[in-house]
Amino acid sequence: MITLGTGSPIPDPNRAGPATLVRAAGRDLLFDCGRAVLMRAAAAGSGPAQFHTVFLTHRHSDHITDLNDVITMQWVMSFGPTPLRIVGPEGTQGLIDKTLDMLTEDVGYRIAHHESLQYQPTIEVTEVSDGVVVDDDGIRIVAAPTEHSPVKPTVGYRIEADGKAVVIAGDTIPCEGLDRLCAGADVYVQTVVRESVVKMIPAPRLQDVLDYHSSIEQAADTAQRNGVKTLVMTHPVPGVAPGTEQEWIDEAQAVFAGEVALANDLDTFTL
Ligand SMILES: [Zn+2]
Ligand SMILES: [Zn+2]
Repeated sequence: MITLGTGSPIPDPNRAGPATLVRAAGRDLLFDCGRAVLMRAAAAGSGPAQFHTVFLTHRHSDHITDLNDVITMQWVMSFGPTPLRIVGPEGTQGLIDKTLDMLTEDVGYRIAHHESLQYQPTIEVTEVSDGVVVDDDGIRIVAAPTEHSPVKPTVGYRIEADGKAVVIAGDTIPCEGLDRLCAGADVYVQTVVRESVVKMIPAPRLQDVLDYHSSIEQAADTAQRNGVKTLVMTHPVPGVAPGTEQEWIDEAQAVFAGEVALANDLDTFTL
């Protein structure tokens, strides 16, 4: 598992937007398409033509900013018509339709220019809510509903292969669906908010993020309650001030007895 992008909506010179690559059973599985996802995928030795499936947790802009880039480059970089598989919560088909609509002119320009590119991008969308999404060739992926209201619906994913399990929670507060995904997981990747710091910043729009994201303590509690081995904190809000990284980890470890990491872009977790 590689944390391609660990940022939040706030532009950060060192953190690309939310995106995680899971390499399992010979497949590159991409979770979310935040800012600069394809730059970070290239650094990880992957890319649009290698993505077996793209999974979306929800349609907040920071998680889908570069979806259009993934669609365009998968179409251009694949040899011959190759459908791009996209899995996401209900409403994903509508997002894809609108994104393709936005890309209409560019698709036309490229088809007019490249004799070898005489076909449209094709996308196979699967909308999921709760249950098994994939179960074949040594890999099993389960989706479950998460809680990020007013963004609805949202989902998290659990990926199982070789007897190991990784959970991509996305942006969510603790909830029953998240607990099910996390039960006994080896790695649990969670967006976190550092509540103690956010509360000191008198900006209403920042205070608003507290009620629909897990705090560090809540993420650690979810990990502890569900017997997770490693909690990987990502998408930190507010930004991590240099030198305070250990404070974030200490806050989690006060609640959770397992391993804790505060992810940076391109960190690799091998299971
Ligand atoms: Zn969100
Ligand atoms: Zn987000």
